[in-house]
Amino acid sequence: MQPADRKTGSGFRASATVFCVILSFMLSSIPVSAGGKLDYTVTEVTPYTVYTTDRLNVRTGPSERWRVLLTLKDGTPIKVTGTVSEGWLQITTDGIPEGYVSGDYVSKTAPSGKPAEEMNETEKADKKKAEEEKAEKEKAEKEKAEKEQAEKEKAEKEQAEKEKAEKEKAEKEQAEKEKAEKEKAEKGKAEKEQAEKEQAEKEQAEKEQAEKEQAEKEQAEKEKAEKEKAEKEKAGAEKEMPAEPISAADHEHVYRESITREPTCSQVGEEILTCEICGATRTGIIPRKEHTPGSWEVVREATMTKEGLRFQNCSVCGRTLASAEIPAHTGRLILLITGLCAAGILICVLLIRRAGKTG
Ligand SMILES: [Zn+2]
Ligand SMILES: [Zn+2]
Repeated sequence: MQPADRKTGSGFRASATVFCVILSFMLSSIPVSAGGKLDYTVTEVTPYTVYTTDRLNVRTGPSERWRVLLTLKDGTPIKVTGTVSEGWLQITTDGIPEGYVSGDYVSKTAPSGKPAEEMNETEKADKKKAEEEKAEKEKAEKEKAEKEQAEKEKAEKEQAEKEKAEKEKAEKEQAEKEKAEKEKAEKGKAEKEQAEKEQAEKEQAEKEQAEKEQAEKEQAEKEKAEKEKAEKEKAGAEKEMPAEPISAADHEHVYRESITREPTCSQVGEEILTCEICGATRTGIIPRKEHTPGSWEVVREATMTKEGLRFQNCSVCGRTLASAEIPAHTGRLILLITGLCAAGILICVLLIRRAGKTG
């Protein structure tokens, strides 16, 4: 303070007030912990209103060492913004953005005759602020929960799609494997049938060869016997007109058939042919009968993805005469896939609508 200022009276008070305001601004902008001079700590509190119970000095710091900024009248409302140790309070009041008072000369109770509305308004403001903070907090939590839910649903969807793809792949591989096994089995069967057929033909040929040789042998013996008989008769006969010997060269054999074994569909038949003129015999072969086709038998049922298989066997000998594929039920598969797609689209639409409502 300069001595010249004291002379000016009310002008001095006004300029002192302005100076104090400027000074308090400057002080409030200095950090409390900065420098060894400001050796106190302010604990901030939610602002609340108190009333002075006596004339009270507002100082620049929290002890009587600090300079007095203003002296308040008894009953003046001031707002507490923080607490300092040893009962001092950081306050703000009309014209003083930041100052310090002793907590011994204030009261939360409004003095008599003073309307308590101010306090109520402060409390109302505090309450409103608390409610707003609470609402903001709840909103943030809700948004967070919704975000987490969305992420979870997305992860589940991706997992489901992955599992589906793997399943389809496995089914496809299974189908290919079964097809390969089927082709292998059919090939093996065909080779086996071919081998059996060749074996049967070989046996048949050998049998025919043996029968032919037997027949030729019998024929030769018979002809020899007849020849000897004829010579004997010729020698024994002294008639002038000897009977003409019957030789095979003089006529065409006229055979009479005598079946010795009936033919079936799996085996040829046999017959002995005897000439009615000369009595010569030979063995004949009766061709095999046709197979009797039985009803078709399903060996493997057709499914939605795989063809079935059926066989037709001979009803007499049981030999397989024909095989055919049964077409897969692709119509049912298409119907099923279409149904699944429709359900998927419906679910997607519902999810999008729901997301639109909540968002
Ligand atoms: Zn003959
Ligand atoms: Zn047969």
